[in-house]
Amino acid sequence: MLIVVSAPSGTGKTSLCREVLAMFPELRFSVSWTTRPPRPGERDGQDYCFTSEAEFRRRIEQGEFVEWVENYGHLYGTSIRTVQSFLDQGHDLLLDVDPRGARAIKERFPSGVFIFLLPPSLAALEVRLSRRGESADVMAARLAKAKDEIREMIWYDYLIVNEQLDEAVDRLRAVYMAETCRRERFYDRMKGDLQSLTG
Ligand code: 5GP
Repeated sequence: MLIVVSAPSGTGKTSLCREVLAMFPELRFSVSWTTRPPRPGERDGQDYCFTSEAEFRRRIEQGEFVEWVENYGHLYGTSIRTVQSFLDQGHDLLLDVDPRGARAIKERFPSGVFIFLLPPSLAALEVRLSRRGESADVMAARLAKAKDEIREMIWYDYLIVNEQLDEAVDRLRAVYMAETCRRERFYDRMKGDLQSLTG
């Protein structure tokens, strides 16, 4: 199962995803490729695979991405090999991509679960962004982009407001657990066991 989480930057998506990933060993994170430089504390290969623009473009040409976008002058992309290898190993996969990427993934994987994380308000988002110490220009651009992205929430399957991290974690966890119980997914996973139950 693919779980795609999108949110405007500053909504707390990274913390939320980290908490939920720690709860479910079968759920893995799809590490995206990016040309943006690492932020303090980010680790190559865990938060992102950091790379040069030339290398990223080479990978685009070789068809290595399910989807890729340019955000704030940097390139971001989801590796088809990463997605496929986790799915082949029977893992569920959590992807953190923007709405354009999410749409492309929905076309390729229509049975994915699409979740949009909302800030409690624009004012709250502004406060969170200002804590990151970004320049005024970057902040204004991120805020304008946040409004555009929030409009995209209409086609997602689930909306979660991140006011209190704990509560948002509970909700994301609940969505994931409920989705694993959907009959069609359950049949897929438990084929052998179900046959033995019905004789
Ligand atoms: P940040 O630079 O704050 O980590 O991420 C900026 C934006 O890029 C976020 O909206 C994040 O979800 C998005 N993003 C990260 N990785 C990918 C990716 O592989 N594909 C797409 N389409 N967006 C991504």
